Amino acid sequence: MLYLFPMALALLSSARREPIDPYPGLETVRHLYVHTPFCATVCPYCAFYVHTGSAAEMRSFVEALLLEWDRLRRTYPIAARTLYFGGGTPSLLPLDAFRRLAEALRPWESVEATLEANPRTVTPEKAAAWRELGIGRVSLGVQSLDPAVLRTLGRRHRPRDVERTMAVLREAGFENINVDLIFGVPGQSIASWKETLEGVIAMAPAHISAYELTYEEDTPFFEARAAGVWREDEERSIAMYREAWSLLEAAGYRQYEISNYARPGRECLHNQGYWMGDDYLGLGPGAFSTVGLRRWQNRRHTGRYVAALSAGREPPREEEGLSEEVRRRERLMLGLRTSRGIPYSWIEGEAERARALIGQGLAELSDGTFRLTPEGRLLADGIAGLFV
Ligand code: SF4
Repeated sequence: MLYLFPMALALLSSARREPIDPYPGLETVRHLYVHTPFCATVCPYCAFYVHTGSAAEMRSFVEALLLEWDRLRRTYPIAARTLYFGGGTPSLLPLDAFRRLAEALRPWESVEATLEANPRTVTPEKAAAWRELGIGRVSLGVQSLDPAVLRTLGRRHRPRDVERTMAVLREAGFENINVDLIFGVPGQSIASWKETLEGVIAMAPAHISAYELTYEEDTPFFEARAAGVWREDEERSIAMYREAWSLLEAAGYRQYEISNYARPGRECLHNQGYWMGDDYLGLGPGAFSTVGLRRWQNRRHTGRYVAALSAGREPPREEEGLSEEVRRRERLMLGLRTSRGIPYSWIEGEAERARALIGQGLAELSDGTFRLTPEGRLLADGIAGLFV
């Protein structure tokens, strides 16, 4: 008793105290993105922060990532539900370096862990190690099964590499595979696009992304268009979007976002997090993070990123403050691109516009949710402009 009494007093006094919040005012972050800036070559249409690099540079980059991760987890409450290794080409990372990175980021909570890979970078040894490290989903940069289109895009793999890579991934136990495709490429015919779609459907991946080519500033493609070498063909792009929608839906894929189709239950949770306006943390040069009303981007410079972290400093970054209104608008714009749509209450003040869109077959309203039809999603950005 003599010894229990002080202990009971201590328990009582701690029970009266408010629990200490180690991260005052911060919500738990559920999504992590890790940007690897290395690629074997830089494609002429790519606007991501990417460059080539040696295995030694990749290893010192990964050491810097580990230092950034250490800083972030001491600053933010993180319980990741999704983890996305994007780039760039993270599948290029030497296995020993990737292993260090993946092990440092663990444990993660029943996470959807995705790794982006290019067909020529996947070996049986790497695929088996990724599986063992907890990667459950691979996103494969296929783009096309037409050799001429691949050449225009500056991609180095051949169509037969895609089949071989799918077989290697499946052999390692990957069932959740995404295939990225591009349409609207200069010189790409509708027949070629259809053959690519049919070829990919025959490989039966769980998820297919079909993006329209965009001419991003500071890329050779942008310059070629500005010089009149290439021109955009809107009608052809619309026909290709419709072709993708009808072939993929008929094959059992559901369009759940303007560019994304999945077998039921195989939707990408990481991207859904972005589209719903969840907070996320990005690691690596060029990566964005959004937490509450703060958004920042690490500067797009691998050398400075590595140097700052190795010297015990924060990586150089640019930061912008957001308002609740900006975040609401972003959610509205992104939500309209998805099959989930948005709560009708968000646009109730514009009921007449909403009714007109429904009348034109571009939108529908059910159970208090306003969503665009597949035809409406073609015009999603313009329609969002009516409501923000
Ligand atoms: S492989 Fe992908 S990330 Fe790398 S340069 Fe090409 S498009 Fe960009």
